[in-house]
Amino acid sequence: MRKRILLIGTGGTIASEPTESGLSPGLSAEELLRSTPGVRELCDVDCMGLLSLDSTNMTPDHWQIMVRAIKERYDDYDGFVLTHGTDTMAYTAAALSYMIQNGGKPVVLTGAQKPMAFDTTDSRENLYDAFLCAVNDMPGVSIVFDHKVIAGTRAKKKRTKSFAAFESIDYPELGVIRDGMLFRYITRPSGESPIFFEKLDKNVSLVKLIPGMGREVLDFMFSKNDAVIIESFGVGGLPEAGGFRDCISTWCARGRFAVLTTQVESEGSDLGIYRVGSRLKNDPGVLEAYDMTTEAVYSKLMWILAGTKDPARVREMFYTPVACDILRTAVLPG
Ligand code: ASP
Repeated sequence: MRKRILLIGTGGTIASEPTESGLSPGLSAEELLRSTPGVRELCDVDCMGLLSLDSTNMTPDHWQIMVRAIKERYDDYDGFVLTHGTDTMAYTAAALSYMIQNGGKPVVLTGAQKPMAFDTTDSRENLYDAFLCAVNDMPGVSIVFDHKVIAGTRAKKKRTKSFAAFESIDYPELGVIRDGMLFRYITRPSGESPIFFEKLDKNVSLVKLIPGMGREVLDFMFSKNDAVIIESFGVGGLPEAGGFRDCISTWCARGRFAVLTTQVESEGSDLGIYRVGSRLKNDPGVLEAYDMTTEAVYSKLMWILAGTKDPARVREMFYTPVACDILRTAVLPG
C-alpha cells in the first residue's frame, strides 16, 4: 500500500532565498516538494508550513510546536519529514528523540547547506533521501543528510559549508543511501505506541570551561538554572584551584544538578581517569555525560527535569538509554 507522509516545513537554508540582508527562509513546503522530482512516485504527500525560521532562531518552544503538530497527526500518516535549518538541527533531532518515544513511525529531519533555489544545491538529494527513509520503515527520529542516516541523539554539525555537514558521534550511522537505495546498517526497535512528552524544564544551561575561568560564571549559571552542563576538557575534570568543587557541592545541596561533559567531540568523558575528575566522580550531585553528545544531554535533562527533581530518579533516568543516546552507563548505587 502507498504510504502517506507529512512534509513539515520549518525554514532553514533549504527553504531560503536571497534578500538584501542575506539568505532568509521564504519557500513553502509545497514549493520544496515541487522542486524535488521523484518524491510523488515514492508516496502520497501532504504539506504543512509550520514555521519559517532560520534555525538560529529556534528555541525549545519551537520543539514543542513540532511535537504537538506530529502528535495531532500521528495516526493519519505513516511517517513525517521535517525540513529544518542545519545550524540547530542536531539539537532539535535530539529533543524530538526524547519528546517522541516508543514510536514506530519515522520522523526524519533534513535540510541543506545550499538553498533549493541555487543551481548547485544539496537540497533536492537530501529531501528525496529523507522521503526514501520515511517510506522505508526507519522508526524513530533521525537526520538524513548527505546520503547518511544518523540517529537523532547522535548527530552533530561538524562543517559549516560542505555538504557533509553532519556526523554520527560515537555511534554507527543507521544506514546510507546509495544510487537511490537505502542500505540499513542498524535497525532500531520499532515501538508499538508512541509516548509524547510535551513538557520541558527550560532552566538548563551550558558552560564551556576555558583555561583561567573562575567559579563566578558557574555560580551565576547555577543561580539561574535547575541544571548546568559543564563542558570540560579531555575526559573531564575541573580545575583544582578556585573553589569549583565547593561551588558544585553547594549548588547540588540546594537541589541543582551538574553534568560534566567534554569539549572533545568524540569518545566522551571518563571522569575516573585523572585526579581533576575522579574527585567529582563520587560526588552524588554530579552526573557524567559519557558518550552522549552535548545536544543530547541538554534536551535529555530538559525532558527529565520536567517530570522529576528527585536526585535518585534523575540519575537513573539520565543513565538509562533512550533512542541509542548512551552506550556506556554508570553503575547505579544500590
Ligand atoms: N542558518 C541556517 C539555518 O540553520 C543554516 C542552514 O540551514 O544550513 O537555518
